[in-house]
Amino acid sequence: MDLEEKLSILAAAAKYDASCASSGSEGRAGKSGSAAPGGLGYREAAGVCHSWTGDGRCVSLLKLLYSNVCRFDCAYCVNRVSSDIPRASFTSQELVDLTVEFYRRNYIEGLFLSSGIFSDPDVVMEKLIQTARALRTQGAFGGYIHLKIIPGSGEKLIREAGLWADRLSVNIELPTAGSLKKLAPQKDGKVIFGAMGEVNDTEREYGEDRKTMRSVPEFAPSGQSTQLVIGASPEDDRTIINLSGALYRKFGLRRVYYSAFTPAGGTGGPPDPRLPDIAAPPVKREHRLYQADWLLRFYHFTPQEVLDGDTPFLDTLIDPKAAWALRHLEFFPVEVIRASYEDLLRVPGIGAVSARRIVEVRRGSAFGAASRSLSFDRLRRLGVTLKRARYFITIAGAFIDRAADAGRLRSILAGLDGEGLQLPLFDF
Ligand code: SF4
Repeated sequence: MDLEEKLSILAAAAKYDASCASSGSEGRAGKSGSAAPGGLGYREAAGVCHSWTGDGRCVSLLKLLYSNVCRFDCAYCVNRVSSDIPRASFTSQELVDLTVEFYRRNYIEGLFLSSGIFSDPDVVMEKLIQTARALRTQGAFGGYIHLKIIPGSGEKLIREAGLWADRLSVNIELPTAGSLKKLAPQKDGKVIFGAMGEVNDTEREYGEDRKTMRSVPEFAPSGQSTQLVIGASPEDDRTIINLSGALYRKFGLRRVYYSAFTPAGGTGGPPDPRLPDIAAPPVKREHRLYQADWLLRFYHFTPQEVLDGDTPFLDTLIDPKAAWALRHLEFFPVEVIRASYEDLLRVPGIGAVSARRIVEVRRGSAFGAASRSLSFDRLRRLGVTLKRARYFITIAGAFIDRAADAGRLRSILAGLDGEGLQLPLFDF
């Protein structure tokens, strides 16, 4: 099999891993026509995705599997052993050459590398490390590297992976041990958590050492992430959000990615009887989970606040912050002149950026001056979405609109849903 064919198979096989946020994009080669679709220089066919580095830069990554040969039979995965698809494997040298070539041509800024479990976990992990090591040493590759940790691989290999990679990820895939047992019977939650713990402990250890010894190398400076498949198993959103909260707390994860389950694993083949019979991937649910996750990471919400005991699923019509506000109308109106940064963050329509700007404007003014300088018009200019915030705030006691009852507000906010809401920079 030639390299182009391998590239096409192994880029397509990596497509369903969301733990590097993916988006097919027409690259320079595609636009200029300098390479034919399917050719080595054709960015879209080669599976270029976009991801965010630890310092918030968006980078384009060549997203590939080392091999799509897999001994496991995860029901939701196109690469499972029982799936009738063409199989291929790279060699480490092929991957190094490809990555360096794409990097030199400026098509990519880094590599995302995962693999099917084609052999013992240590053997597979060693191949991924060998590729990253050769890229850094032989290829003098200074770009971004995201390596998948193969659960079950030894501690020594996990520790070495973080010395070559910027980011590591271990996919948890399903939210409970019961669902793992049913849909991914060869996977073990304890082993997955063990690998996350090892990454976290090593990250901390290197961080501590680097405070006192300048020669200590960085270990996975962009941290670790994971992926959860949404809709392949029956767990509710509350279970998923509680799990994400625990992963952020316990293992210091930078990101949890949510991937809407694609029926028939994207193959168009017959559905696996272990899976639910759904017509289309639950993308709206995935979107709401990302919004809820944003509340955990940047808006100081706890998982229990995002979804309390009475609400197992996120509201599909309004975003989770608006839903919290409607469940807690007693919290409003928030007085913009006095409210803390944390309270401002609770207001629908005020995001992290606009809350910070409000606090900065107030810091430079006495109370009377602040009430004059913070007009509703000024709030709009500071980035507040007044269409949403107007029902929840006062300025020096003045309302734009008094909050109507929760039912009426819900239909107003549902009508505004999606306006100006874009991940990952949206303010809601
Ligand atoms: S281990 Fe499971 S999820 Fe990973 S490639 Fe194999 S079948 Fe797919």
